[in-house]
Amino acid sequence: MNKNKREKEFYSVDVGDSTFTVLKRYQNLRPIGSGAQGIVCSAYDNNLERNVAIKKLSRPFQNQTHAKRAYRELVLMKCVNHKNIIGLLNVFTPQKTLEEFQDVYLVMELMDANLCQVIQMELDHERLSYLLYQMLCGIKHLHAAGIIHRDLKPSNIVVKSDCTLKILDFGLARTAATGLLMTPYVVTRYYRAPEVILGMGYQANVDIWSVGCILAEMVRHKILFPGRDYIDQWNKVIEQLGTPTQEFLLKLNQSVRTYVENRPRYTGYSFEKLFPDVLFPADSEHSKLKASQARDLLSKMLVIDASKRISVDEALQHPYINVWYDPAEVEAPSPLITDKQLDEREHTVEEWKELIYKEVLDWEERMKNGVIRAQVQQ
Ligand code: AMP
Repeated sequence: MNKNKREKEFYSVDVGDSTFTVLKRYQNLRPIGSGAQGIVCSAYDNNLERNVAIKKLSRPFQNQTHAKRAYRELVLMKCVNHKNIIGLLNVFTPQKTLEEFQDVYLVMELMDANLCQVIQMELDHERLSYLLYQMLCGIKHLHAAGIIHRDLKPSNIVVKSDCTLKILDFGLARTAATGLLMTPYVVTRYYRAPEVILGMGYQANVDIWSVGCILAEMVRHKILFPGRDYIDQWNKVIEQLGTPTQEFLLKLNQSVRTYVENRPRYTGYSFEKLFPDVLFPADSEHSKLKASQARDLLSKMLVIDASKRISVDEALQHPYINVWYDPAEVEAPSPLITDKQLDEREHTVEEWKELIYKEVLDWEERMKNGVIRAQVQQ
């Protein structure tokens, strides 16, 4: 396409401190959120005749942390197609050449709110368990593709008023930087599992810990393990759940073990004390049963030693959750990730710029050729 024609396809609009330069098909932009990568707007898409969300990634290649995250997200969003993972509707850049390349815009399905907003609400067991079921379906689908999230948190999970839920991101790359480069943006770590906090090896059920923290917060309306830093957070974990066993301590590397062993000893509290009946709706016998099931699930998810923690499959079979079980949702075919080095990639800024630019062009090419599915999973 010639440059002038391309230029005419875009227009600019100020949103907050940022300028969005978007395709003219997207109208009526309004800011709806912001994260480590930038601002997200809602907009009306004249072509699809529906509302969408547009996320602007400003100079995503500017440093290793941003570049790896943006590239990984772009590649994975293109492969994954599951109703509980956010779907990509379009990708574009207003710049016309690699030399000029600056920003990437991701167009996604629009949801109503993130889970932080839902946590304030008093939900009944039906909604609570349905939200959890959908989180677990999304997580299982990611795991099936070899993606272990490790950083699930309420701000990265979005919902609609009909109680449908989608996970927004793909978490930490195996070789992720610690986030130090992301300052001044504050990284939320409250939902990270002990094996992440303590720098141990991890397996798929690392994500179950985060789901447990989120469920606990929905019940308590307070963050379960808040902490200024990992040390403070670890204190909150052991104060409530108790000092882990010797068997667990032996799995830690020497310096971490010394630190953990030298903390004061705590016996912890029973789950009846941590999550008493008053926190749950208890208006009927059915609700009482559900409350005890929810508490039982919490006690199996919030287990410090991952080898003793419930797995995703077991959680999906738990009585609190399995009422929703639908094989089409739980056992959807796993996505094929073609870039096997996705997490290992290390590049210079210039190389990242080219890689990300190529991904955008590849999307445009596939759109033109009609390769991209017209409709993402609803
Ligand atoms: P992110 O930059 O992906 O971390 O998103 C930041 C915030 O923007 C989220 O916490 C949501 O509140 C909001 N958001 C992002 N994507 C969407 C979407 N597709 N639908 C609704 N809200 C969204």
